[in-house]
Amino acid sequence: MKSMPNSAVEARRRALSIDTPVQYLKGIGPRRSEQLAAQGVRTVRDLLEYPPFRYEDRTYFRPIDSLREGEWAVTRGRVKGIQDYQTRRRGFSIFQMLVGDSTGSILVKFFNQPYLSKVYGEGAEIVVYGQVRRDEYHRSSLCFHNPEIEILDREAGQSIHTGRVVPIYRKLGELRARALRQIIHFVVSQLPEDSKDPLPSYLRAQLRLLPRSQALARIHFPELQSTTAAGRARELEALNRGVSPAHKRLIFEELFQFQVGLCMVREHRIRIEKDRSIRLGENVRQAIKKILPFHPTEAQKRVLKEIADDLCSRRPMSRLLQGDVGSGKTIVAAQAAIIAVENGYQAAIMAPTEILAEQHYFYFRRLLAPLEYRISLLKGSLRAREKRETLEKIRTGESQISIGTHALIQEGVQFRNLAFVIIDEQHRFGVIQRNVLKEKGNEPDMLVMTATPIPRSLALTLYGDLDVSVIDQMPPGRRPIDTWWLEEKDRRKVYEEMRKTAAARRQVYVVYPLVEESEKSDLRAATEMAQHLQEQVFPGLRIGLLHGRMKSADKERVMAAFAAGEVQILVSTTVIEVGVDVANATLMVIEHAERFGLAQLHQLRGRVGRGAAQSRCILVANARGSPEARRRMDILCESNDGFRIAEVDLEVRGPGEIIGTRQSGLPVFKYANLVRDRKALEVARAEADRFVKRLKAQPDPECRQIASLIQQEWKDRYGLALVG
Ligand code: ADP
Ligand code: MG
Repeated sequence: MKSMPNSAVEARRRALSIDTPVQYLKGIGPRRSEQLAAQGVRTVRDLLEYPPFRYEDRTYFRPIDSLREGEWAVTRGRVKGIQDYQTRRRGFSIFQMLVGDSTGSILVKFFNQPYLSKVYGEGAEIVVYGQVRRDEYHRSSLCFHNPEIEILDREAGQSIHTGRVVPIYRKLGELRARALRQIIHFVVSQLPEDSKDPLPSYLRAQLRLLPRSQALARIHFPELQSTTAAGRARELEALNRGVSPAHKRLIFEELFQFQVGLCMVREHRIRIEKDRSIRLGENVRQAIKKILPFHPTEAQKRVLKEIADDLCSRRPMSRLLQGDVGSGKTIVAAQAAIIAVENGYQAAIMAPTEILAEQHYFYFRRLLAPLEYRISLLKGSLRAREKRETLEKIRTGESQISIGTHALIQEGVQFRNLAFVIIDEQHRFGVIQRNVLKEKGNEPDMLVMTATPIPRSLALTLYGDLDVSVIDQMPPGRRPIDTWWLEEKDRRKVYEEMRKTAAARRQVYVVYPLVEESEKSDLRAATEMAQHLQEQVFPGLRIGLLHGRMKSADKERVMAAFAAGEVQILVSTTVIEVGVDVANATLMVIEHAERFGLAQLHQLRGRVGRGAAQSRCILVANARGSPEARRRMDILCESNDGFRIAEVDLEVRGPGEIIGTRQSGLPVFKYANLVRDRKALEVARAEADRFVKRLKAQPDPECRQIASLIQQEWKDRYGLALVG
C-alpha cells in the first residue's frame, strides 16, 4: 500500500461503488477477502449490509480524575511515557503508556502486543475507551487493560473508535469489530450517494423514511440528534433495539421488497392458463352430499365456494386454508378433492411426515368410504413390490386420490392426470420451496392447509404469495374446552376425571410426547401406562394402545375400535395429532405437557370438544422450573382461540422457532423482526400491492428501475426468478 502513488489511491477512491469487490478496499488483502467471501461478504454492499449488533456511546471525554473503578468510560489525553517489558513469565510482555490530561494521569496496559511500541509514540494525542480497573501493582491507582485506543488524527478530524456513538460488530471470519469498524468507516465516508434507492420516492416521502445511503451511513456511524442526556439515552436505546430511524428505513425496505416479490408471484400466476376443465355438475353435488353427515357452516360454504371457483377457473389455484382446530377444514379439503375426482382427475395429499400421511390416509378412507374411491398411500417404508404397484396405480390413474409425503410429487412419480394437490403444511414449506415444487408439476391446483392457525405476520411472509381462505366459525353447539393444568402429585384427580368420563359413556385420550431421540422410552412410557391403567386402575374398561411403530393394519384396527366406542381409553403417542375424529371422546389427558409446543398442545386438545358435550383437557405438566413452559400452560388454560394462541406462541418463541430452521422457507431478514415489526409488515404489504398495480398500469422510469432491483434481489437472495 505504501508504494502506491497518490494518484492511484485517488483513482481507486473515485471508483468506489456499492459493487466494488471488498478485496480492493484498504485493509483487506487476499487472505481477508477470502475469509470474507466465506462469510458471504464479497462487495462493498455486502459489507454495508452487515449491521452492528449494538452501539456504545463513547461521546464524552471524561476528565481522568473523575474515572471510577469498574465503569466503562472514554477519556482523552496525551501519551506522557511508554514502557515495553517482559514479565518474569517467559514470553509474556506488557506494553504500557502513561496517559495524562489537565486533571491527572492513568496507566494504559496491553498484554502480549509488543508491536504496539511501533504504533504509539510519546506526545501523541489519544482517546481511550475501556473498563477502568484497579492497578494490581499500585493499589492506589487506576488503569485500563487492552482498551480501544485511537490516535487523534488532526488532519482528518474524524474519530472512528471513540468520541462518538460507536458501532460494535460481531466478528466476521477473522475480522474483529475494530478492523471492521475501520474498513466500514472508510467505505461509508468514501461512498458516493447511491442513486438507486430501492424504495420509491413517493413512499419515502409519505412514510418519512431516510434515503438508503443515509440510512446505511447512520446504521454504522450514527449521530445522536438530541442535546439532553435523557434524549441521547433514548436515541441510543432505539439504536440498540434496532428501531432507530435508520433501522426503520432498512426494515421497511426489506419487508417491502419481500412483499413486492410475493405480489409478483401472485400476479404471474394470474397469467398462467390451465389446460383442463372442471365443472360443478350434479354428480359432484350428489357425491358431496353423500359424505356430509351435517349441514356445513356458513364459513365452510363460503370457503368451499372460493376453492371450487378456483378449481373451475382458468388459472391455477394457490390458496391457503386457515381455520382453528375443529373448524372443519379437513372436511372442506375432502369436498374439494371430490370435485377433482368426479371430474375424472387425480388428487394428491402431501403431508410433512410419514406418520401424518398415514393418518390422512386412514381419515380420508373413512370419510370417503361411501364413495368407494380408490385411495393409495405412498410411503418410503413400502416394500419394493408394494411401492412398484402403488406407483403403477398412480401412473395409470387407477389411484384417484394419492396420499404421501412430498416424495409424492418428486422422485419421478408419474400421475396420469393430477389436477389438485392438498399440502398439509404444518409450517414446513415456504414460498420459495413451494415454487420450486410447482416447477416439477404441471400447474396443478394447490391448496395449502395449516393444522393450527398461524400468526398473521408469519402468514403474510410465509404464505404471502397465496390467496387466503379462513374458516372463522365453529360448527354449531361447540363449547370451549375446559382446560386444567395439574401435576404428577395430582394423579388421583386425573384418574378420577377419567373414571367419571367413562362412567358417562364418553371416551378418553391419554397422550405421551414422542421426542425423536427418546422415542423408545416414550414408547415404553405409553405402553406401561396402558398396561397399568388396564390392570391396576380400570380393569373393567377396555384400554387401547396406539403408537407409530405398530403395523398400519393394527393401527387402523385400534382406531376403528375406538371410533366404534369399544375402546374407552386410548393411550397413544402423538400419532393422533391430526385427523383422528371421534366426537364421543370428551377428555384429553396430555402427559408431560411441558415437552410440547403451544401449537401442538392446541392441536392435540382439539381432538376433543368435537361434539355438543362439554369436553375437558388435562395438562399433566411439571413446569415449575421453566417460565416459558408455565406461560404455555397458562395461556392454554385461559384461551381456546387458536389465533390468539398462535400470536402468543410467536411472541414467546420467535418466528425461527415456530417455523423451524432456515430450510423452513422463512426468509432470513437482516433488519426486520416479524414480532416487533408487525405494523411495518402490514404497511409494506399494502404498499407492495399498490406498487405492483402501479407497475402494471402506469409505470414511470423509477417504478421500472425499482422493480428490476427487486427482481435482482430475489434472485440473489432467494434464488427465485420473478417474472415481471
Ligand atoms: P379441522 O381439520 O379443521 O381440525 P375437521 O375437519 O377434522 O376439523 O372437523 C372437526 C369435526 O367437526 C369433525 O368431527 C367434523 O366431522 C365436524 N364438523 C365439521 N364441520 C361440521 C359442521 N358443519 N357441523 C357439524 N360438525 C362438523
Ligand atoms: Mg384436521
